[in-house]
Amino acid sequence: MQILDGKALAKKIEENVSYEAKLFKQTTGRVPGLAVILVGHDPASQAYVGMKKKACDRAGFYSVTHEMPDDISQDAIIKTITMMNDNPNIDGILIQLPLPNHIDTTKILEVVTPSKDVDGFHPFNVGRLTTGLDGFVPCTPLGVMELLAEYNIDPKGKDAVIVGASNIVGKPMAALLLNANATVTVTHIFTKDLKAHTLQADILLVGAGVINLIREDMVKDDAIVIDIGINRTDDGRLVGDVDYDAVAPKTSYITPVPGGVGPMTISMLLSNTLKAAKNHANEAQ
Ligand code: NAD
Repeated sequence: MQILDGKALAKKIEENVSYEAKLFKQTTGRVPGLAVILVGHDPASQAYVGMKKKACDRAGFYSVTHEMPDDISQDAIIKTITMMNDNPNIDGILIQLPLPNHIDTTKILEVVTPSKDVDGFHPFNVGRLTTGLDGFVPCTPLGVMELLAEYNIDPKGKDAVIVGASNIVGKPMAALLLNANATVTVTHIFTKDLKAHTLQADILLVGAGVINLIREDMVKDDAIVIDIGINRTDDGRLVGDVDYDAVAPKTSYITPVPGGVGPMTISMLLSNTLKAAKNHANEAQ
């Protein structure tokens, strides 16, 4: 069993992004810029936004966080996004999810101009991903693909089973794996017999948000297991969706939580923002 070390790879990617950001500054006179919109006071969202801001600082990016109260109107959020769309110092716009219930998340995500949609949630970029065209790909599944590539794991011809079908994790993960010629199965809360599917997986990718959802008897020998889940236990520990201690010994590769997919997500955000900045600089020429 080998651990897929997302922390180490993320560090390497961040160093490369920082270097490229310096070169970008030399040629354009400015640094890549990220705007984050944070609505409400959810502690997990605040923690994620804090981590993203720190990563921007490390990479030498400009970043600004627009913090808004829980009861903010949809129009006020849209106004701020429109301002960021028009701001030439901003290359990427990130809406920290979830948004409060009175806000139409789909509508908000559609306001972000596709060239600044570094989270890859705009239908324009979702369409480009499913068609196999270049665009912005959601950071978490993109990070998983980078991690597989780093360890020379080629999904081509493999049976990939995804647990979880959200727009953020499961669906884009499926599109990326299909584009990489894997045979993809997507399971979710209404799947009749989860174990029957997970047992078929050469690559099992789990992002459901349920502690210990995947037990040892649900994984075949030598499977590659990617745990995307991030959950906090009652005693405050961070764990994934896979019963790591029981499952790890029978896998060929596995991601730990923390230190697996999580750090990759942040480094992909930096890399998407750098990509947006380069695109904007090229368009301006
Ligand atoms: P979500 O709630 O939007 O979606 C969960 C998905 O899992 C749904 O499709 C649901 O049908 C499925 N599911 C739930 N319970 C299930 C069960 N018992 N059996 C089968 N399927 C089940 O959540 P999300 O935003 O996609 O996040 C999923 C997990 O990934 C969470 O733990 C989240 O914290 C984590 N996450 C991690 C990162 C990262 O950087 N590593 C990024 C985003 C999300």
